Amino acid sequence: MELIDGKKISAEIKEEIAIEVSKLKADGGKTPHLAAILVGHDGGSETYVAHKVKACEQVGFNSTLVRFEDDVTQEELLAKVEELNNNDDIDGFIVQLPIPAHINEQKVIEAISPEKDVDGFHPANVGRMVIGLPAFISATPAGIVDLLERYNIEISGKNVVVVGRSNIVGRPMSVLLSQKGRDATVTVCHSRTKDLEAVVSKADIIIAAIGVPEFVTAKMVKEGAIVIDVGTTRVKSDLTKSGWKLKGDVKFDEVSPKCSYITPVPGGVGPMTIVSLLKNTLLAAKKSVY
Ligand code: NAP
Repeated sequence: MELIDGKKISAEIKEEIAIEVSKLKADGGKTPHLAAILVGHDGGSETYVAHKVKACEQVGFNSTLVRFEDDVTQEELLAKVEELNNNDDIDGFIVQLPIPAHINEQKVIEAISPEKDVDGFHPANVGRMVIGLPAFISATPAGIVDLLERYNIEISGKNVVVVGRSNIVGRPMSVLLSQKGRDATVTVCHSRTKDLEAVVSKADIIIAAIGVPEFVTAKMVKEGAIVIDVGTTRVKSDLTKSGWKLKGDVKFDEVSPKCSYITPVPGGVGPMTIVSLLKNTLLAAKKSVY
């Protein structure tokens, strides 16, 4: 069994981005600039955004954090999105999800200019990805593709089972891996899938993106399978200072001995998600997609 080290690969990619940014600046180009809108004080969202801002500093980007309280109105949020759309110094921006229920999330996503939608959630980018046009690709699935490629894991002709069909992970993941050039045969499972164990246990590659800690057990995994664990659920823990720890969707201790490759949680997919956001921001700054 080989552990897929997302921390190591993400550090390598960050170094590559930093070198490219230095060259851009040396050639008199613009410093890439990412903005993030954060609504409220959810612990998970605070952590993710702090990591994104820190990652920008590490690679030489500028970053701007825009904060709103939980009671921000939809109009106020949409006005800020419009302002960022029109700010020429901002190459790309994200609205950290989830946002409070009184705001229509889809409306906010669709208000972001596709040219600045570095999260790749706008329908224009999703549609472009589906038909194979240049697009900003959702960060987590893009990061998983990078991980598989950097570990030289053959995807072509493989039987991939993606568990989860969300717009930000499972669905785009299934599209990317089945695209011409990657050529996997992909099955997407969800909460209505019948006899999920029978389906998953046939997979050469399992992508678990469910949000249910330790859902994937050893009996669901065939010998030699590759397992990518996207799940990050915060569970209470007496063993950490924060009082919680992250749990993946895979029962790591019993599944890992059966795998040829597996990602840990934390330190697997998570760091790659941030790196993909940086890659998208660099593409936006270079006007490489639109
Ligand atoms: P989501 O929107 O809640 O979607 C979960 C998916 O799993 C849904 O399609 C759901 O099916 C399916 N599902 C739930 N319970 C199931 C069950 N018992 N059997 C089969 N399918 C089931 O979640 P998400 O946003 O995709 O995130 C999934 C996990 O990945 C979460 O833990 C999240 O925190 C994590 N995540 C991590 C990163 C990272 O950077 N590491 C990034 C994004 C997300 P239905 O469609 O039928 O409801």
